[in-house]
Amino acid sequence: MPAKAKVTKNDLVVVLAGKDVGKRARVLEVKPSEGKVLVEGVAVVQRHTRRNAQRSNVGGIIEREAMIDISNVQVVCPSCGAPTRVAIKILEDGTRKRQCKKCSAIIERR
Ligand SMILES: [Zn+2]
Repeated sequence: MPAKAKVTKNDLVVVLAGKDVGKRARVLEVKPSEGKVLVEGVAVVQRHTRRNAQRSNVGGIIEREAMIDISNVQVVCPSCGAPTRVAIKILEDGTRKRQCKKCSAIIERR
């Protein structure tokens, strides 16, 4: 069963695996085709860069988040504040909304 990305940009998520387990942070970017997400301050890697005048790169150590697997994060419900699985609710007008499986609140995109 292909996992459909129920995580969208600006969601608050909790990290389930890796060195940042338990961290709550905001989603910066989602790559559904790769099943990866970029989460603020999570899986930060240090890139040692060489000075490069053409790219106005001053060199040194740059810290940047790395993509992590989408299955390693869980959406935090804005209503009940709990990490939750997400159900898809189809409204009468056909709109698909995400719904918290714990408190049944609709989770809007932010
Ligand atoms: Zn909830």
